[in-house]
Amino acid sequence: MKAIHKSDSLSNNIDKPTKKNDDTVAYNHKNLSYDELTFFIDSLLDLDTIRLNEIELVTYYSSLLKKETIRLEGIPAPDFYELFDEAAVFTITPENELLEEQLLVVTSDSLGSYFHPKEGIVTSKFGWRDKRMHKGIDINLNKGDAVKAAFNGMVRVARKQGGYGNVVIVRHYNGLETVYAHLSKIKVKPGDVVTAGQLIGLGGSTGHSSGPHLHFEVRFKGHPLNPANFISFTENKIEADSIIIKHNKYGVCAYPSNATLYSIQKGDSWFEIAKRYGMSTKQLCSLNGTDKRYYLRVGQKLRIN
Ligand SMILES: [Zn+2]
Repeated sequence: MKAIHKSDSLSNNIDKPTKKNDDTVAYNHKNLSYDELTFFIDSLLDLDTIRLNEIELVTYYSSLLKKETIRLEGIPAPDFYELFDEAAVFTITPENELLEEQLLVVTSDSLGSYFHPKEGIVTSKFGWRDKRMHKGIDINLNKGDAVKAAFNGMVRVARKQGGYGNVVIVRHYNGLETVYAHLSKIKVKPGDVVTAGQLIGLGGSTGHSSGPHLHFEVRFKGHPLNPANFISFTENKIEADSIIIKHNKYGVCAYPSNATLYSIQKGDSWFEIAKRYGMSTKQLCSLNGTDKRYYLRVGQKLRIN
């Protein structure tokens, strides 16, 4: 399926009317995009008189467009994405085009709520693993277990894709995209509108995988976020209705907008906690009036802003 671009050039594809001897206007009847049709109608309104065949053309073009128009209007998060590209796995917005700080409302009455895609034990966290960046969270499951959509949205990708195996990627109305990989079966197709909690596939071990599990990613404009920063994988719920997505020299990170304290967990280091909140180790230490030689005790709370 082709990519739909919001700002398709208006004039490039419009055929110039060619005057015939009998003074009728001939067009090459081809599909016009929504924007092109708007441009065409607009140009007709500037005329003193509109010919009948031009009105017929508007009707004709509209009938061709009907389906695509609905798709264009229904595509989630048009403020954040210019493209709804079903061919590309991800289009990554260059970091210098990201805002330093972006408040993103992720659940609300109009956006809908969060649904935990698969309850289960986390077998691998987000972050560096064996010299490679693990861009998601692995959740243990049995082959055939239901995997469900996290938020309301529209399926952008649903196919077999390299190491992901059978993968579904959903664009959400809140601006996030979620990825569900290694599925044994895909139950949706690109363009499908899905609601939070809707079945999108069955768990499996396809692609680069050593056993049945769900590889779950949350991305913003193509950039992977650590879902554990704003989703509890033990309580299976989202921690806040809105998150802050921060971009600076320490990378891109996301955390609940109301976060003030961080509870130290097993395996944490000063560096990792600082990175989670887009800070240097030094900044985090000074915020807490200590230095990095200080021993981190599990359960103890650190100020993070
Ligand atoms: Zn994984």
